[in-house]
Amino acid sequence: MTQTINLGAFLSSAKGFLHMGKEAKEADMQTMSFFLRNPRGGKAKPLDEADMRAFSAFLKENNFAPAVAHAPYTMNPCSPNESTRQFAREMFADDMRRMEYIPGNFYNFHPGSRLQTPLKTAAAQIADMLNAVLTPETKTTVLLETMAGKGSEVGRTFSELGEILAQIKYSEKVGVCLDTCHVWDGGYDIAENLDGVLNEFDREIGLSKLCAVHLNDSLNPLGSHKDRHALIGEGHIGKKALVAFLCHPALSSLPFVLETPTDTAGHAAEIRMLRAAVNEAGKK
Ligand code: FE
Ligand code: FE
Ligand code: ZN
Repeated sequence: MTQTINLGAFLSSAKGFLHMGKEAKEADMQTMSFFLRNPRGGKAKPLDEADMRAFSAFLKENNFAPAVAHAPYTMNPCSPNESTRQFAREMFADDMRRMEYIPGNFYNFHPGSRLQTPLKTAAAQIADMLNAVLTPETKTTVLLETMAGKGSEVGRTFSELGEILAQIKYSEKVGVCLDTCHVWDGGYDIAENLDGVLNEFDREIGLSKLCAVHLNDSLNPLGSHKDRHALIGEGHIGKKALVAFLCHPALSSLPFVLETPTDTAGHAAEIRMLRAAVNEAGKK
């Protein structure tokens, strides 16, 4: 049986959201990631409602799997600095307002760096940001991303993410985006022990909360806490393990977004290569 895997990559919305959707289709993607504002600053262009609505219609007409918008890297809801936390809350509220023009998609964010703040306080601050904005009417699912554990990043372990999720008021509005490079760098051996890793995810979070995947190889060995992405097959996880990950019955229907260090043509080539490998694996 040939299974269809939803693959995509990061694209730029600089020429408009509808334009970006068409670019995804041309590259044979079934999902994609993008920023709603400058990822390293936080400034956003004025919202072009007509373009957002056209993009939303385009995704539906072409049967895209959910897209996974990415929050800016400067968003740190558990910073020890109150003005940084306030900035995070404002960006999050504005991004969620924009996401409502493209209902039914995902928005993922890095839980943040807590520095000297205790984990318990940090988890509560992260949950507070979500609880302040999400309502029963919200049409976007917000995803916490699994992190590599660089510095004081929250979200290296599934139990840390579980601690945040346990404090969410409308819990059906929040899930997890698993980044293969990050969990590997965080010490989860998805190459040799994928079932064991998924069992731990299920115990600490619940597999039904796993909504999307960032599919990356890693430049560094297991448990290195580095977060340097590699091209598929050119890192320590390896192509074979990443293809097995794509084909795992608990995962294969999720949207998979490449964040590998290449351009759109390179991502399109990786998608073709992965699709061929999945089909090959299906024949065995
Ligand atoms: Fe990320
Ligand atoms: Fe990621
Ligand atoms: Zn990363």
